[in-house]
Amino acid sequence: MLFTIKTERYPATDLGYLLHKHPAKIQSVAITAGTAHIYYPEANEHACKAALLLDIDPVALVRRNDANGFSLDQYVNDRPYVCASFMSAAIAQAYSSAMNGRCKDKPEIVDEPLPFEAMLTALPVKGGETLLRRLFEPLGYEMTIASAPLNPAFPEWGISRYFNVALRNTITLKKLLRQLYILLPVCDNDKHYFVGEHELEKLMEKGEGWLEQHPEKELIVRRYLKHIGPLANQALERMMKEDMEEEEAEAAPKELKRLHDLRLETVRDILRSLNVRTVIDLGCGEGKLLKLLKQEPVFTKLTGMDVNQVSLQIATRKLKLDSYNPDTRIHLFQGSLLYADQRTKEYDAGVMVEVIEHLEENRLWDMEKAVFQFARPGYVIITTVNAEYNVKYEKLTAGTFRHTDHRFEWTRSQFEAWGNRVAELYKYTVTYQPVGELDEAVGASSQLAIFKRN
Ligand code: SAH
Repeated sequence: MLFTIKTERYPATDLGYLLHKHPAKIQSVAITAGTAHIYYPEANEHACKAALLLDIDPVALVRRNDANGFSLDQYVNDRPYVCASFMSAAIAQAYSSAMNGRCKDKPEIVDEPLPFEAMLTALPVKGGETLLRRLFEPLGYEMTIASAPLNPAFPEWGISRYFNVALRNTITLKKLLRQLYILLPVCDNDKHYFVGEHELEKLMEKGEGWLEQHPEKELIVRRYLKHIGPLANQALERMMKEDMEEEEAEAAPKELKRLHDLRLETVRDILRSLNVRTVIDLGCGEGKLLKLLKQEPVFTKLTGMDVNQVSLQIATRKLKLDSYNPDTRIHLFQGSLLYADQRTKEYDAGVMVEVIEHLEENRLWDMEKAVFQFARPGYVIITTVNAEYNVKYEKLTAGTFRHTDHRFEWTRSQFEAWGNRVAELYKYTVTYQPVGELDEAVGASSQLAIFKRN
């Protein structure tokens, strides 16, 4: 199997410097159970293409297999001929300097996104073309995918699970190699070696800066770590934590109190002032609000619901619900705001802190019915970012959202128009207030609505 990288960025032979491999030489590197050959089918100033060809020795493969007894599978399998974890390991070995962002002779181009085309032959994909697109397109790749029938004589057998794929992107070489390093075994959903703690660290390191925000993060992590639940959960927890901490803390001016804490404290104070006793936190995430409310004995029943199982696991730990002496006032469950759920009924207040902007705008209608019509708590408190305020964040360019998972961000008048309609339709009375330091022109960073059941 073959993996090529090509660039036409002038002078294209810079690729040789970036890969630390001279275009005029054929080089060979010993890898597990075989050899990787690196050569350049094309190398001039206008176009330069480096090829990595794997020559896996099937006999050596069998010899290093620890399986006991005779298994035909050891002898008859696709491993020597596909672009999967052997290729991934070969990339890490043959192109290690490039993958680590080192370039002795031209360090200035390491961080420069260049137009690349990568070609992979015989890539085994469990999940087919749909999965391939779900993995690569969110990272900005333009793809050409070629597949063939399993056997041309028997078209009814369907298509083969091996694909030839061309990936085009303007990206740093370091990132391209890191993404392929992780995604090749993910496509295949298998690995030729033992997966342990060490593999988790590699995933965290090579995934840094792109995997945390990938919409298929969970699938990637689980497949990469060979579906070893505790390892995968650990990775996801770590990524989520880093992601959340980066979120607004980065965008917000230092002198502001952390906006998120302010929102949570504001909600707590409102709940106190409304003499609420039982609260359901809808989209509770890691349980930050519940942690704050737990300190107040006035709350007799506190429930958190979230669609994300990993968040709930973090919440369970942070709220110490799995310890010997759990707080029996607190319960968590997995559920979605888009469906009416019996378990959300009979609370004095329902809260959604920074949740609505994570829902698809065209599904808000389902949430409205589930919350305002079905659950129908005495009060509903909702916070969301104020899009007008984004101009104050230096790091946000116009038209971008504060968080990559936000589906929309509303101005004050958009939020109020939505709130007024919902209140009228479901017979609530609504009031609004800003959260955060007030700016005369653009309002505060966050906005909050209190709905009171009529
Ligand atoms: N309220 C928390 C988390 C905000 S992040 C806090 O203030 O810290 C948004 C949360 O909404 C995430 O935890 C996400 O999993 C959850 N979420 C997104 N869509 C959801 C849905 N349809 N139903 C329930 N929760 C959802």
